[in-house]
Amino acid sequence: MEWKLRFLSDIENAIIFYNMKGQIGVTTENIFPVIKQFLYSDHEIFLRELVANAVDASGKLKTLASNGEWKGELGDLKVRVELDEKAKTLKIIDRGIGMNAEEVEKYINQIAFSSAGEFLEKYKDQAKGIIGHFGLGFYSAFMVSSKVTIESLSYREGEKGVFWSCDGSPEFEMSECVKEDRGTVVTLYLDSDSEEFAHKERIEALLNKYCKFMPVPVVFGKKTEWKEGKEVETDEDNVINNIDPIWTKAPSELKEEDYMNFYHALYPMEEDPMFYIHLNVDYPFTLTGILYFPKIKERMAIDKNKIQLYCNQMFVTEHVDNIVPDFLTLLHGVIDSPDIPLNVSRSYLQSDANVKKISTYITKKVSDRLEEIFKEQRENYEQKWDNIKLFIEYGMLSDEKFCERALNFALLKDSEGKYYSIEEYKKVIEENQKDKDGKLVFLYATDVQNQYSSIEAAKALGYNVLLMDCELDSHFVGLLEQKNENSRFARVDSDAAVNLIPKQEEVKPELSEDDKKALSELFKAALPQGPDYNVEAANLGEKSEAVLISQNEWMRRMREMSSIGGGMNFYGSMPEMYTVKVNMENPLIQKIWGDRENTSELLHQVVDLALLSKGLLKGKALSDFIARSEELLKA
Ligand code: ADP
Repeated sequence: MEWKLRFLSDIENAIIFYNMKGQIGVTTENIFPVIKQFLYSDHEIFLRELVANAVDASGKLKTLASNGEWKGELGDLKVRVELDEKAKTLKIIDRGIGMNAEEVEKYINQIAFSSAGEFLEKYKDQAKGIIGHFGLGFYSAFMVSSKVTIESLSYREGEKGVFWSCDGSPEFEMSECVKEDRGTVVTLYLDSDSEEFAHKERIEALLNKYCKFMPVPVVFGKKTEWKEGKEVETDEDNVINNIDPIWTKAPSELKEEDYMNFYHALYPMEEDPMFYIHLNVDYPFTLTGILYFPKIKERMAIDKNKIQLYCNQMFVTEHVDNIVPDFLTLLHGVIDSPDIPLNVSRSYLQSDANVKKISTYITKKVSDRLEEIFKEQRENYEQKWDNIKLFIEYGMLSDEKFCERALNFALLKDSEGKYYSIEEYKKVIEENQKDKDGKLVFLYATDVQNQYSSIEAAKALGYNVLLMDCELDSHFVGLLEQKNENSRFARVDSDAAVNLIPKQEEVKPELSEDDKKALSELFKAALPQGPDYNVEAANLGEKSEAVLISQNEWMRRMREMSSIGGGMNFYGSMPEMYTVKVNMENPLIQKIWGDRENTSELLHQVVDLALLSKGLLKGKALSDFIARSEELLKA
């Protein structure tokens, strides 16, 4: 989108040479085609710009009245949008400050001469709500119109009405006119390419999208009601906006219920959110808003782009990437800031100092709030943990600062459903789960059903097992290892229970090299084709399983990470590798090993049971196993 930025500066350069004789203040011969085609990719925003101007003009008059600079009657300040579907005209009417001929000359003819800038300079403190950041706002009308007229009457006493008209060429007409009512009427004569805007439904939808929370009532037609099976107009104005949405209020004025109602008004199809965060800062930049943690129904199928960005209550976009850190784009809600440069290219945003500050602020607020809930409403927080876990893990993995904070309030859940903070959990396992090198071993399962026997075996040794069943957990486990010195994570089925946390050097069975080879060949012949097996003799105790099949913790993690993305495709393409431990202390193995020639059936049975317990017995191997078992039962 580089060209967009270039055109903006072209226009700004051109303006320096503006002339005053009946030509719009742009020397570039025909600026309108440029405006029409390139300036805004979204033609529909013309309505937002014009309504925003009308709202601004009304807001300015209100400010003048409230500080006593103007003593007149404010009266009805509503902004009206009127569509004539047949004539294909659209009027935006306000009763704001209006303009006299000089002002039209200055503000309209000299394009980027934004009076909002001047006004803000003068009334900095009171005029907070003035939307005046779009130097070319008014001219966006030419994106959809073949002709635009303005009739305006200034609020000052004794002024004359002014009429201005322009048909899209740099020439304009200006004359005196009779206008009874204070304020401005902008009339668009929609061009033939833009007839889509000559429909009531379309305009209604646009007003709903862009003007829903503007700070002055905006009226579009009359309210309707159903009478005798027909929809009929009433006398009541159809106000399309809510002029004081809750993010503009102080948190102390609001109840939980208000936050929930607002959420449902924004997202009617969503379930209650988990938590909300009210943002409110006015130094060193201005930003208000409310962010919600939505309830995630299907993991990873989360909508991004559900945060609406406003500028003084005027809707700007739903694309807030580059403004909030990536992990926070998973949140929902509203951010309102006049300090985000809005009409520049997206890539420029990333390097903008204000945007950086805003992004840091939001991240900090989110972590503050989560820590507060963690400390003050522990039960509530635990109940919702499973639904917010994905955000937090994603945040911790992608944002260093957030990670540092979140280490305090991230929870770990064990296989029995108990929650601990990381520090709390370390205390739980400190005594019993240190290996011979003094490393603290966090045991975890990814699936309570499939790893049932391994979990039980670990528990029987007095170990606690965590449940790490979220998509990001294979990455997250690595992060926790990094952040907690002298500790490691081991999946509960990555070895025999007794070997998960070795307390002393493993004592291997004494076998000659030839025997080792023979043992390996014997068992490999009984294992299914496909994966690589590394068969080794082990002493796992008389009572432990005869054969134990496991996957190396590290290799498995690499494969998992490559499957959800993370630049480890190399591992993803490697064959599955398993370690097969043959427990030489188990009586069945002793029988098989002692009488190899006559125990082939028993060998297969033992190997198949080991495969079965890991969910690895499939297809023909499984049906052979069933047939063989039946034969054995019959015998
Ligand atoms: P911006 O709104 O960014 O200043 P615009 O091109 O939209 O840029 O408008 C230029 C100026 O024209 C405004 O700053 C304002 O002074 C004046 N103006 C536009 N519309 C109105 C209106 N409806 N009533 C009074 N003044 C207006």
